[in-house]
Amino acid sequence: MAKPLLEFTDRGIYCDQGRFYIDPWKPVDDAVITHAHADHAYWGHKNYLAHHLSREVLYYRLGEINLQTVAYNEPVYKNGVKITLHPAGHVIGSAQIRVEYKDTVWVVSGDYKTDDDGVSDPFEPVKCHHFISECTFGMPVYSWKPQAEIFTDVNNWWQNNLQHDLATVIVGYSLGKAQRILQNLNMDLGKVYTHGVIENTNEALRRNGVTLNPTERITAESVKTEVRKGIILAPPSAVGTPWMRKFQPYSFGYCSGWMALRGAKRRRAADRGFIMSDHADWNGLVSAIDATGCECVYLTHGYTASFTRYLNEIGFNAKEVHTLYGGEEEDAGITEKEEKEETAELPDTERSPAVNDGQEAAK
Ligand SMILES: [Zn+2]
Ligand SMILES: [Zn+2]
Repeated sequence: MAKPLLEFTDRGIYCDQGRFYIDPWKPVDDAVITHAHADHAYWGHKNYLAHHLSREVLYYRLGEINLQTVAYNEPVYKNGVKITLHPAGHVIGSAQIRVEYKDTVWVVSGDYKTDDDGVSDPFEPVKCHHFISECTFGMPVYSWKPQAEIFTDVNNWWQNNLQHDLATVIVGYSLGKAQRILQNLNMDLGKVYTHGVIENTNEALRRNGVTLNPTERITAESVKTEVRKGIILAPPSAVGTPWMRKFQPYSFGYCSGWMALRGAKRRRAADRGFIMSDHADWNGLVSAIDATGCECVYLTHGYTASFTRYLNEIGFNAKEVHTLYGGEEEDAGITEKEEKEETAELPDTERSPAVNDGQEAAK
């Protein structure tokens, strides 16, 4: 039997014919990178290939790397293998990787979401024979509200805080969530102040030609009374630090897909939990996999075991794959044990019969 076009190795997803890896987690010669999150874009490869809009964030995070960038749909050939990038809708610059050789097509999803966030290029289904898909939120309990509703809640909360002389701290991951929040805030309510980690990422994106709403970096010189009149955009790492406490009294809102779990807000000590994710929800995953028309789907990070079983039950040919993906942008601050407990806590009615053994649900 001929070797499959892509295979799973201890360094990452490998194309032997083209001699390149996709999102490898150990140093390799040729790496194709889906997006700039740390669990996908590691340091130490000789050559990187990514989308144009990942360029400045990759340089900011990885330093002086040898990077080639391309537009969506712009082909690159490696030893006869055709590689194209297609929008994944996850964060700015995120891509699915399509690999074609002798009439066989594989697609690696990277991280993706099917809802249009108005900031990243919207997810595009790509036909293929083999689809390697993430399934971070592959449980029926994960079902996202339309973005407009989420941000109505966010802006009402901010306005309400202003009326009660509370500062507003909104927490989201620095690449992805932060820009999505920034572009959907009601700028008439006040200024947006940013934590340095978020502002560095914003600056990288602006250098890359991305237009973002105005922000002001919080520094030692910032006037506390002024900052308290705006909204403070902070990364998860700032939660509970003296940096954040100096703006008290405040209301603190946390934006994450995990907020769909009971208790997640309490565990983060947040006043408000906004269920907002840069990953596809349950329906998004199933519809995206279906739209590829693939013969076989391979599931990486997330609820791989139960989701794989469910897909097989409804007629897909699904296989579970173990990778080192997962985490950075979604579960920072929530431990695997906590997440398992919370999943186990869910009443049975919230789960499909296919996945009702919450025990092995966590990654
Ligand atoms: Zn990601
Ligand atoms: Zn990931």
